[in-house]
Amino acid sequence: MPKTSETVLEIDLRALEHNYNYLRSKIKPETKFMAVVKAFAYGSDTVNVALKLEQLGVDYFAVAYVKEGVALRDAGITIPILVLHPQPVNFELLIARCLEPSLYSPKILREFHRAANALQQENYPVHLKFNTGLNRLGFWENDVAFIKGVLKNSNELKIVSIFSHLAASEDKAELEFTTTQIKTFKKIGEEVDNMLGYSPFRHILNTSGLINYPEAQFDLVRCGIGLYGYGNDPTVDKELKPVGTLKTIISQIHKIEPNESVGYNRAYKADHFRKTATLPIGHADGIGRHYGNGKVYVCIGNKKAPIIGNVCMDMIMIDITGIDCREGDEVIIFGQEQSAETLAASASTISYELLTAISARVPRIILE
Ligand SMILES: *Cc1c(COP(=O)(O)O)cnc(C)c1O
Repeated sequence: MPKTSETVLEIDLRALEHNYNYLRSKIKPETKFMAVVKAFAYGSDTVNVALKLEQLGVDYFAVAYVKEGVALRDAGITIPILVLHPQPVNFELLIARCLEPSLYSPKILREFHRAANALQQENYPVHLKFNTGLNRLGFWENDVAFIKGVLKNSNELKIVSIFSHLAASEDKAELEFTTTQIKTFKKIGEEVDNMLGYSPFRHILNTSGLINYPEAQFDLVRCGIGLYGYGNDPTVDKELKPVGTLKTIISQIHKIEPNESVGYNRAYKADHFRKTATLPIGHADGIGRHYGNGKVYVCIGNKKAPIIGNVCMDMIMIDITGIDCREGDEVIIFGQEQSAETLAASASTISYELLTAISARVPRIILE
């Protein structure tokens, strides 16, 4: 890995390939693979990550919003793209760019049907999202009759797939709840097949779902976090490689006397002589205030230095007492040395939040 001379997020496409191959090895050859690249490919780099995944042979992409799908088309992506949470204001754009909407409520179905009709679409590919217990987005089982009513005697829409989302796929204590979600989904699938007279493909698993409930892979799996190197489980994490490494450098070193304070609101007070370092990364780069005040550490070589005091907008301060280092030396925030999962957990959050928060100000360096 090259040494850095400023704050950067390195994106390792070989790690991405490794993770993709690992996840693929967990599914049957005929099961399709949907790569979830919403939120700038989990805070990494949409274009480079998506092009690499398309080249590796993923079958589908998923994004949250229409404009994320447009960015993929602009980058030259040609495979199907599912938009998980489209809004009616963007339906025209969605159709113009051949994106496939998740239709998740009676209102959204009616409005999309109207848009497809107005644009003279035939058999436009759409996906029906069903709620089986997450209670976030989705039709309820008893909406099947309503859906039938809308689709009756019309050929604007073609139901490509039906899907649902697990509420606690990473939590083995919720095995019974999850199994019930899967059972309910199966039953809905049969009702939909009967209603349509054909069988859309089915999917319910995210990364942790695939790891813990591989028997429920149906026709496709939707993996996000696993591709980026995190599996919500220490044994899975060992098999995966972090795609992103967030690194920075030491801008300045200070010697702090006992009873002096460091940073805003004097939140850190030194009890002894201390050596501190100031780093050019702050909450505007995605390291939020909750990472401050001794809760987490960063890595200098193989040494751990805690973040002290309040995180500033553009800087953090760390305690380097006893660590042999100089101004200009490299500091790793997360990566191989310390996983984003560990760092996030120390600040009472999750890898997903930490990764997707790394802001546009941090340059992305692509390692091929
Ligand atoms: C984000 C998302 C996923 C991906 O989940 P991971 O835990 O990152 O694998 C899958 N399905 C839906 C509906 C999602 O919103």
